Amino acid sequence: MADLLLDRPPRLVDALQAWSHRLGPEAVLTSNAALAEVQTATFATTHRVHAVLRPRSREEVQASVRIADEYAIPLYPVSAGKNWGFGSSVPSRDGCVVLHLGRLNRIVAYDEDLAYVTVEPGVTQGQLHEFLRQRGGRLWLDASGSTPESSLIGNVAERGVGFTPYADHFSHVCDLEVVLPGGEYIRTGFGRFDGAAAAAVHRYGVGPALDGLFAQSGLGIITRMTLWLMPAPEAFQACYFNLADDGHLDAVIGALRSLKLDGTLRGAVHLYNTASVLTSYTQFPYAATKGSMPIEADVYRRLCQKWDLAAWHGSVGMYGSRNQVHEARRRVRKALAGHVSKLEFLDDRRLRLSRLLQWPYRRLTGRNLSEIIQATLPGYGLLRGVPTDTPSRRTYWRKHGMPPADVNPDRDRCGFIWCTSAVPLVGHHVRAVVDTARAVLSAHQFEPQVSLNLITDRCAYCMIAIVYDRDMPRADLRASRCHAQLNDELRHRGYYPYRLGVQDGQPLVGDDPYGGLLRKLKDAIDPNDILATDRYV
Ligand SMILES: Cc1cc2nc3c(=O)[nH]c(=O)nc-3n(C[C@H](O)[C@H](O)[C@H](O)COP(=O)(O)OP(=O)(O)OC[C@H]3O[C@@H](n4cnc5c(N)ncnc54)[C@H](O)[C@@H]3O)c2cc1C
Repeated sequence: MADLLLDRPPRLVDALQAWSHRLGPEAVLTSNAALAEVQTATFATTHRVHAVLRPRSREEVQASVRIADEYAIPLYPVSAGKNWGFGSSVPSRDGCVVLHLGRLNRIVAYDEDLAYVTVEPGVTQGQLHEFLRQRGGRLWLDASGSTPESSLIGNVAERGVGFTPYADHFSHVCDLEVVLPGGEYIRTGFGRFDGAAAAAVHRYGVGPALDGLFAQSGLGIITRMTLWLMPAPEAFQACYFNLADDGHLDAVIGALRSLKLDGTLRGAVHLYNTASVLTSYTQFPYAATKGSMPIEADVYRRLCQKWDLAAWHGSVGMYGSRNQVHEARRRVRKALAGHVSKLEFLDDRRLRLSRLLQWPYRRLTGRNLSEIIQATLPGYGLLRGVPTDTPSRRTYWRKHGMPPADVNPDRDRCGFIWCTSAVPLVGHHVRAVVDTARAVLSAHQFEPQVSLNLITDRCAYCMIAIVYDRDMPRADLRASRCHAQLNDELRHRGYYPYRLGVQDGQPLVGDDPYGGLLRKLKDAIDPNDILATDRYV
């Protein structure tokens, strides 16, 4: 470390020595390789990082924060740093030290009767899934579509989402342990009282509830959290449907809203447009388009025919007793009749049957059923809380060459930017966002990859992905211009993002009273401005 310290300001040199002394030298990384990793996202970023700290316990997190405060060095916490499409591990401002919490990776409590688990930030969704599987799979987590290596707490800190009835992740956690910028720590809800029996099972405790302050805020570092788990239902079925064209969107959105509001569909419905489904089957057809981008209409048509793609593909899980699932299926059929071009249901029994019939089926139809089953399994698993790397492969859409087995879009210079919008569950709102996304992305020569996540009963998140190859000349610049224009146009029409990328800074904190209150809170909690500055607040 000595050589590297030579070209650093004295304040930072002193802080690095203090961290090294307190955490041990192996927990303070300053090598070029370590810094390059946390300075790389799936789009262009300019923020440089001075060091990466890897504490092992809450006490070491507190010590790290106190040292940062003493020497006025800004810190940026990440749990696994897989915030792909939103900035990965890259801090929200230049000159930070990244506090990587991956070594706090214990599952500290598990209660099967009350269906909860308490975890540290380094616990990944893959790790929790394996833990639950080893205990008989009686409880399910809600997995996100991100990598199994992503962090449960990191995802909740961003108010991330998944697929099952527990898809709105922040609504299913409580008792946050949070280290504040001064170094002290608090617990939220009943967790703040010694020996409180209901700490892990009640969200608010008594008095003002503070949990919301610590998501999308950078006001504290979450070092522990209780997550509620879903009891494996007696019956489960996946429902898949297609929409032949956009003309059916209004009716289908209306039908799905009713099915969600009346409790028939408790899971999150996902609708994916053709361009986004295509990325899970194949990669950009450079040979067929002779390099022209985005894909021309006739090539597009041929690809859609080849993969049997409709305008929209929907999926949702149905959970409950056998009777409940049977009834849900009946209601879904009735509500979607006449509006969808295909409606299918899948469960474990049908999957087993399909496996048995794959050879006769191939002989009769010439179609490879086993390939279809393989393609279906990851999505089917997500509806049951099984994390998978498959969706992350779509970040390689415009790369030349297949995605590797160990998917890592940061390392492999995959260009991927999420643009999100919260949209009321009404057809004309949904179409307005989809049409805007289509127009802006096409104008910038990107395929408009759009999905709608019906997370709550009244609101969908529209997820728009700008996917490109960072190795192509000026691609980063074109993508960031497209992202900025899309954000502006959506906001102008009243559709605000549900979540920000690290490049967005804090554009939503204005001079209004709400912005003023946020600033007062930040000043009170973090007077020296050392924590995740410019991230949301
Ligand atoms: C193809 C693809 C599919 C995806 N699917 C989904 C999806 O279905 N749902 C979804 O939500 N996301 C999805 N993502 C986005 C992202 O990959 C996930 O949200 C992922 O969980 C975030 O990474 P992480 O969990 O490692 O969090 P981190 O990168 O560790 O953290 C994210 C941010 O939260 C804050 N933070 C992290 N830890 C703490 C802490 N302990 N205390 C305070 N603040 C903290 C920091 O600002 C940090 O930058 C997807 C991305 C891609 C590319």
